[in-house]
Amino acid sequence: MANVICVDGPAASGKSTVSKAVAEKLGYLYVDSGALYRIMTWLALEAGVDTGKPESIADFARDVDVAFVVKGCRVAYEVGGVEPGDRIRTPEINRHVSPVSAVPEVRERVTGWLRDMRRLGDLIVEGRDIGSVVYPDSPWRFYLDADPEERARRRLVEDVAKGFADQGAKEQVKASLLNRDKIDSSRKAAPLVVPPGATRIDTTAMTIADVVDFIVSAVQP
Ligand code: C5P
Repeated sequence: MANVICVDGPAASGKSTVSKAVAEKLGYLYVDSGALYRIMTWLALEAGVDTGKPESIADFARDVDVAFVVKGCRVAYEVGGVEPGDRIRTPEINRHVSPVSAVPEVRERVTGWLRDMRRLGDLIVEGRDIGSVVYPDSPWRFYLDADPEERARRRLVEDVAKGFADQGAKEQVKASLLNRDKIDSSRKAAPLVVPPGATRIDTTAMTIADVVDFIVSAVQP
């Protein structure tokens, strides 16, 4: 069986940057589970599904088709032969993704996909419920956290670079992150928790390289 490293944590805690770098160092495949929830949300909005109605989202989720393609050190997702790219990272998707991902049928679908990916090789999977629900038996489970102020600062830098926000929007970005954290932590289905037995890493004052080294040495002592 392939190895799986689980990296959970709230929005903008550094999960993606760190997980991509660990994947490159260890020759594992990087898996972004949040992108699958974002794709579900994007396709639902494109199809005119009312994201305020869990039953409509559940019906829609059953027929969504995503292809998984290994590209270098990551598992890429294609819809109709193309990667959605930044279309799934807009403020609009940020607003709708937490309610969509709270729908049990959506979670069932995505969890099934994430478990199937183990057939592709050793994985590092980042998300909210990877160490608690998707791969609870993995010996390598980490929970990344950081001060909300620092998380907002990091996300603002990314959003400005993508043209989704301007420099003065830090408070808005912070409010959006905290709102998502609140919905993600309080939902019934697979809420964001520190998985029992996981290693919690507060990245507020750490560099990316520090966090990467910490995880790499834990996995390959
Ligand atoms: O990681 P990212 O911020 O892209 O995730 C977007 C959203 O997808 C989260 O706010 C959460 O609602 C949902 N998600 C989830 N479970 C995961 C990964 C993401 O519910 N394992």
